[in-house]
Amino acid sequence: MNIGLPRGVQDILPEDIPYWHFVEETAKKIFKTYNYKEIRTPIFEYTELFTKGTGETTDIVMKEMYTFLDKKGRSLTLRPEGTPGVIRAFLINKIYNITPVWKVYYIGPMFRYERPQAGRYREFHQLGVEVLGRKDPYIDFEIIKLAVEILKELKLENLEVEINSLGCLKCRPTYRTALQSYFYEYKDKLSPIDQERLERNPLRILDSKDEIAQELKEKAPQPLDYLCEECKIHFDKVISYLSLEKINYKISPKLVRGLDYYTRTVFEIITSSLGAQNAIIGGGRYDNLVETYGGPSTPGLGFAVGMERLLLLLKQQGCNIQTEPLIFIAIEKEEFIKEGINLSNQLRASYRVEVGPPQESLKTQLKWADKLGSTIVIFLDENILENKIKVKNFIDGKEKIVPLTNITEELKIML
Ligand code: AMP
Repeated sequence: MNIGLPRGVQDILPEDIPYWHFVEETAKKIFKTYNYKEIRTPIFEYTELFTKGTGETTDIVMKEMYTFLDKKGRSLTLRPEGTPGVIRAFLINKIYNITPVWKVYYIGPMFRYERPQAGRYREFHQLGVEVLGRKDPYIDFEIIKLAVEILKELKLENLEVEINSLGCLKCRPTYRTALQSYFYEYKDKLSPIDQERLERNPLRILDSKDEIAQELKEKAPQPLDYLCEECKIHFDKVISYLSLEKINYKISPKLVRGLDYYTRTVFEIITSSLGAQNAIIGGGRYDNLVETYGGPSTPGLGFAVGMERLLLLLKQQGCNIQTEPLIFIAIEKEEFIKEGINLSNQLRASYRVEVGPPQESLKTQLKWADKLGSTIVIFLDENILENKIKVKNFIDGKEKIVPLTNITEELKIML
């Protein structure tokens, strides 16, 4: 029997959940102000959605997908990223007939068969946004600003935006040819996978994890030098808006990202505090993806935040989330249970309340109260016969007896 944890996945235990909620609620609050609405798409999709969209020559599709056949022999895949599912939802729900611009966000698990290490897992969570229907450079700027604003609201430091442009269908072929001729000279040194990429999609060699490819990449032609006039103007505008808003960015001519569908703007937000897994957020524009899936020509762009990396960073930078006070009601005798129920009903309107097991001794109940991290213990003992109760502050140890009717006021003073 193997009931251990599979490699690369982890439990998110209750102690950690407040951090998750903090990030999710902060992001949701900001998404709302930018007019994004939430979408929830399935965890698995037809495999083809990813081979076609994410790209056949990407690491994700070549090596990292959790693909299986269902009982009818259909090939399904646990989603390795969120964008293809959102585009599929856009298409099958014919959203393009309803609105010229669609802005959505999602939060959920993604699955990639990667080599697990700190900040890299096989099940991880992304919080992402997608915008469909806008081709103007303002919106590229705005999603970067949105990403930066979330990180700022979380009070994260040591972050930098890295940005690049990969060009469009018009200028990409010239760049592709230049890149191919460059790598051809070193063909024999490349790994078998990169040799295959050289024929099919030389751009992918630029984000290969192979050491030789990484070395060769240093001197490889860069997409920025091959941009057509429209792509250049688009990129310059994005950059100028970032400067206008005083967002710190660095043009990173070697940034290509690991997915095939990007056109024009690509960006990452990286931290200097997490070692090798330094990208917290990654995203970019994908103006041909909807068409690739057979939909009407629709520009698009988006980004995804890696939740686990963000949380590692939050904790590393000392984020401490206060838990709400816990009121423990210790019932000395079973005959006081009615008062215990009434009191818990009343207090739950404002507090977290735990009721002790009346069959246990007061001493045992107090031990529980302590272990559970209670802030206040209320004793239901003989005092209740005179409509009074004993209240003990578990933090400073002080206790007093107060009229039952005053309990809410008393707790306000004590907390
Ligand atoms: P991508 O979907 O590859 O563009 O990645 C977007 C973000 O998701 C990255 O910047 C990371 O923060 C996060 N991410 C990607 N892969 C993993 C992984 N295997 N484990 C944890 N986080 C990941």
